[in-house]
Amino acid sequence: MKQKYVLALDQGTTSSRAIIFNKDGRIAGVSKKEFTQLYPRPGWVEHDPSEIWSSQASVISELMAKTGITGEYINSIGITNQRETTIVWDRKSGEPVYNAIVWQDRRTAATCDRLIADGHSDTIMKRTGLIPDAYFSATKLMWILDNVDGVRKRAEKGELCFGTVDSWLLWKITGGREHATDVTNASRTMMYNIHTLEWDNHLLDLFNIPEAMLPEVRSCSEVFGVSDKHIMGYKIPVAGIAGDQQAALFGQLCIDKGMVKNTYGTGCFMILNTGDEAVISSNRLLTTIAWMIGDKLTYGLEGSVFIAGAVIQWLRDGLEIIGSAPESEKVAAGVEDNGGVYFVPALAGLGAPHWDPYARGTITGITRGTSKGHISRAALESIAFQVRDVLIAMQKDFGSELSGLRVDGGASENNLLMQFQSDILGIDVIRPAVMETTALGAAYLAGLATGYWDSIETLKKQWHMDNTFTPGMDDKLVKNHLLNWEKALERAKGWGDIIL
Ligand code: ADP
Repeated sequence: MKQKYVLALDQGTTSSRAIIFNKDGRIAGVSKKEFTQLYPRPGWVEHDPSEIWSSQASVISELMAKTGITGEYINSIGITNQRETTIVWDRKSGEPVYNAIVWQDRRTAATCDRLIADGHSDTIMKRTGLIPDAYFSATKLMWILDNVDGVRKRAEKGELCFGTVDSWLLWKITGGREHATDVTNASRTMMYNIHTLEWDNHLLDLFNIPEAMLPEVRSCSEVFGVSDKHIMGYKIPVAGIAGDQQAALFGQLCIDKGMVKNTYGTGCFMILNTGDEAVISSNRLLTTIAWMIGDKLTYGLEGSVFIAGAVIQWLRDGLEIIGSAPESEKVAAGVEDNGGVYFVPALAGLGAPHWDPYARGTITGITRGTSKGHISRAALESIAFQVRDVLIAMQKDFGSELSGLRVDGGASENNLLMQFQSDILGIDVIRPAVMETTALGAAYLAGLATGYWDSIETLKKQWHMDNTFTPGMDDKLVKNHLLNWEKALERAKGWGDIIL
């Protein structure tokens, strides 16, 4: 008999992907499809929920056709998804009442400013672990309730369902039988109490959100329902759900308290496993649920950098000094050091732990000797400096030093960057063999629930390293780099808009 596999659905911001993993946690096949980004007004970002689903369904079919691994050979399905993105649909017809409002959408920024001005930040932070922001689902849902005709009435009568993208996919896959989510996605809505593990009635009142429309919240690793037979020809259990960053933490096997991962994509996303303790940050990091397996809850501290790999894109498309992102490594390696150039890539303000929306991109220390090699090197180093700032903030909140950083994402393939990261942090930077850690995490959560994998210990054993970067830079040089970075940061902060 042919062996069985686990299917992960990785529903991201720009593409839907399906990945099949075998028992060793290795990839047996991948399919990917991009879908339409809608920008109806400046600052607004939407997706068509039907296209989210159709792109996801089509990559499933394509992958099964491509690999010959059909429904018969799939043990279970795990879902991981872009977080916070908000969808409302009709409980009977399954029709969305509005487009999905994407996490990047800023239309509710003024609502959040009002919540902050009215003194609600502390309550929100204490209950949800989050700093009030348009990023999270709550104000997006308020907007739909207040701006789409008839929606509030229908929601109050229990006719509508709210869900993040995981809930939407679960609903579609199970043929409308399951309206549920998992604790990680719930913890990004700004409506979920991460301590009592309930939708928070106080916040629902404050936001005027009818509880009847909210999904049931479950753990990350359990059978949520079975797939409708017409989708893959078989009824397959959907047995794992986690938001993308939490899934990546799990896929990286950062299982123990004190383990931390950073994803180097367009921006950087770092999460630290803080065990069963919800550490409330004094350094403007977010407290979130990392996962729940059985009744065991694991919390995380999260910090994001807005511009990371994106600064390399800017070197390619804006400055046009490199032809491709990987070329940044070669160009940077062509010079001995940064030549005194420091680059603060605050192209969209600064995220954690600085949180300065008025900071702007700044390149300091340019002389006649400065070349594109120096600029490229300074850009790569800037990613590492920003990551260090988040990690230091995490250490302060966590109260002890971290011993290693597990990495993934496109820019983590850059060896020069990873070596510099290790040098500047003074700890090991560890890159795994399987870089699809997000999908792997979702697959693991599903396969654990069905017994496909017998324990987390087994998963730990099959985690393979690609490379470890160990610190080797002279202490004095590290210190000087950090002083110069601090100085450059000060120049970039509070710059604001230039009047021309
Ligand atoms: P996302 O999921 O955010 O789209 P990815 O994980 O696919 O991001 O990574 C893509 C980002 O990584 C891009 O911003 C790109 O500029 C950067 N990147 C990719 N490869 C390299 C490389 N070898 N060196 C530096 N940056 C890179």
